[in-house]
Amino acid sequence: LAKDGREKSLLVQLTPYGVKQFLIVTRDVTQVEKLETTRKDFVANVSHELRTPLTVLSGFLETLHDMPGDSLSAEQRESYHTLMMEQAHRMQAIVADLLTLSTLESSPSINGKPVRVAAVIRNALLQAKVLSSDQHVFVQNIDNKLCVLGIESELTSAISNLLSNAVSYTPKDGTITVSWYITETGTACYSVQDTGIGIASQDIPRLTERFYRVDRGRSRATGGTGLGLAITKHVAMRHHAELHIRSRFGAGSIFSVEFPASRVIVQAEDEGQKAA
Ligand code: ADP
Repeated sequence: LAKDGREKSLLVQLTPYGVKQFLIVTRDVTQVEKLETTRKDFVANVSHELRTPLTVLSGFLETLHDMPGDSLSAEQRESYHTLMMEQAHRMQAIVADLLTLSTLESSPSINGKPVRVAAVIRNALLQAKVLSSDQHVFVQNIDNKLCVLGIESELTSAISNLLSNAVSYTPKDGTITVSWYITETGTACYSVQDTGIGIASQDIPRLTERFYRVDRGRSRATGGTGLGLAITKHVAMRHHAELHIRSRFGAGSIFSVEFPASRVIVQAEDEGQKAA
């Protein structure tokens, strides 16, 4: 059987001299059907995700249209406006994440240039507003000389996704620890560990699926699009790295990205600047 859905044919000649010939054509459509199901699920998910904010938006617009000009107080008008803006921002975030994912998917791997991950982590900490969050944040083992071959902007967004998740799913006074270090085998790893709500083992394999959330309501309330970990996984794959997820329900999680030794470069702190 042709595994990729292509046809394979076999000509069977039953008698050496006779005219009886059969052409058997076989086709394994498993993969094709799987792709088709994934595509249909994806379209259904996107439609569902966009429909919710659109419904809220159009509801408010209709209400505003049907109300006589002076029947709403300034505060009511302001609160309608705020709620509509929230929904518009939600749609913008979903579309921006979808575009990021499709760009990442268009080329599965990259070479890139040396990126100083310690600097990326510092940027991501600012972007994800972790330092001003309600949790205790520790930054440890950050090796300034350790670089990986890659694309800085992608690495920043991957790390800030992990950081904002840690903030979203860790209660006040919990702890978030960020590390970046070389392992005994020469691979390099950044990890974001939290003492948050944790994830049940059956949910872990599905976390990087687009729009998969353990708790839909909670994710929406924190402004999540449900695409952050799908993006992080794609960024890791493009950098020949692996995303590892370990978690204990009710106790906390560790998300780490491990780069192979072949992509790791140790560079003195002023070396990149000299080259530039
Ligand atoms: P979201 O925008 O919903 O956060 P993600 O793709 O980033 O989307 O994450 C998918 C789901 O994984 C989240 O909805 C949440 O249920 C779970 N999750 C991610 N990070 C954590 C974490 N640090 N602790 C607990 N659950 C998490």
